Amino acid sequence: MKKCLNDRVFDIISQVGESENTPVYVIGGFVRDVLLNRPSKDIDIVAVGSGIEIAEKVARKLGSNVKVSVFRNFGTAMIRYGDYEIEFVGARKESYREDSRKPIVEDGTLEDDQKRRDFTINALAFSLNKKDFGALLDPFNGENDLKDKIIRTPLEPDQTFSDDPLRMFRAIRFSSQLNFKIEDKTYQSISESKNRTKILSKERIVDEFNKILLSTKPSVGIKALENTGLLKEFFPELQNLKGVEAKDGKMHKDNFYHTVEVVDNVRKKSDDLWLIWAALLHDIAKPKTKKYIKDTGWTFHGHEFLGSKMIPSIFKRLKLPLNEKMKYVQKLVQLHLRPIVLSQDIVTDSAVRRLLFDAGDDIDDLMILCEADITSKNEYTIQKHLNNFRIVREKLVEIEEKDALRNFQPPISGELIIKTFGLDPCKTVGDIKNAIKEAILEGEIRNNYQEAYEFMIKKGEEMGLSPRKL
Ligand code: ATP
Ligand code: MG
Repeated sequence: MKKCLNDRVFDIISQVGESENTPVYVIGGFVRDVLLNRPSKDIDIVAVGSGIEIAEKVARKLGSNVKVSVFRNFGTAMIRYGDYEIEFVGARKESYREDSRKPIVEDGTLEDDQKRRDFTINALAFSLNKKDFGALLDPFNGENDLKDKIIRTPLEPDQTFSDDPLRMFRAIRFSSQLNFKIEDKTYQSISESKNRTKILSKERIVDEFNKILLSTKPSVGIKALENTGLLKEFFPELQNLKGVEAKDGKMHKDNFYHTVEVVDNVRKKSDDLWLIWAALLHDIAKPKTKKYIKDTGWTFHGHEFLGSKMIPSIFKRLKLPLNEKMKYVQKLVQLHLRPIVLSQDIVTDSAVRRLLFDAGDDIDDLMILCEADITSKNEYTIQKHLNNFRIVREKLVEIEEKDALRNFQPPISGELIIKTFGLDPCKTVGDIKNAIKEAILEGEIRNNYQEAYEFMIKKGEEMGLSPRKL
């Protein structure tokens, strides 16, 4: 344990604590991660006294160029040093009252500070004091819970969750990130306190949710959110995917469990948060488009288009960015059936060209999503689809090499069309431009200036135009 604390930073904090007569400790996530062998660069220091004063003195000792950011309102200070981000705070005691969300905060002891932590595994502290430097201070048996892979609150769970309902999301987030089990009483309490989450800001919830999405197996967390009832509170659209219906002996698959499987599959291939969001939302409009058609069975016609349209309001409500990231998610959701349709049919060059044209640089991500979307239980079916996708991928490479359609730039500009036929800007110009694009996508001509120019002249003449002598 001492081995990991032999850093210069810890020595200096220790010396400053000693000379100021202020006990200092490393606490929380850093200690947990050291014991789990997950190196982390975020260090939280608790001082039984003024955290800000300790931070200022530590910074001075670390070097003249080391700056402290002080947040007086919160009684905290932060130092960036190398890769480290070190946050200092005075030990505090928090008491919550029934009628207010804001706790009464007073100075406290180390134990008081450990009590206000969310989980036993997050309440661990290492001493930085001379008399017992490196000792683990563990009043709630957090070390045992780490060994047993258990998430448990230090106090009664109902109280811990009522004091700050975000801790319910954090419990599920840590269980998903660390692959830990939430202890039964703690889990039960989450199920019973879920309506308290209404008071939380969407930003705080989504921060935790995104960490679940980026954990190695996001389905663990998403299923726990569903199971405890938290999902319904903040993400009803996802909740609505759950369930099956049968008619005439035909049953459709449960789109919730399918979706979380697709999310896991994408996560295995990528750590791009927005690609994972696309997986999460790819079938989001299935409940709204569901129809039973006699002889055909269950259909979800147009769910990719409606799904893509639902995304802005979901992003807005969840305070996710309404920028090009959202547009990217919309695009992938809208296109997610295209490679499948392609792979079921004979793969024609023109269909591949159109897909390349529409997907542009996002084609590789789209293929990851589509391959992840195969969740059949039947190994033969999976292999058959994967093989078809392999053919699509080969064709994509072949056609991209030949026609360079990924970032399609029309080889003939509108100005050239105007100049060639002596036109004013009008609809005809757009029609000719579009006809050139179509001819390229259909493979009638290649994507180059010469062939496109000849095609333009021919098309113009068909429309009764004649090129001007230039
Ligand atoms: P990570 O940095 O990986 O998200 P972490 O445990 O370090 O994990 P932080 O949000 O950085 O999480 O918080 C640091 C420490 O502060 C936690 O380990 C915990 O002791 C405490 N903490 C954070 N949020 C809460 C909360 N809502 N309620 C109680 N304690 C909390
Ligand atoms: Mg942290």
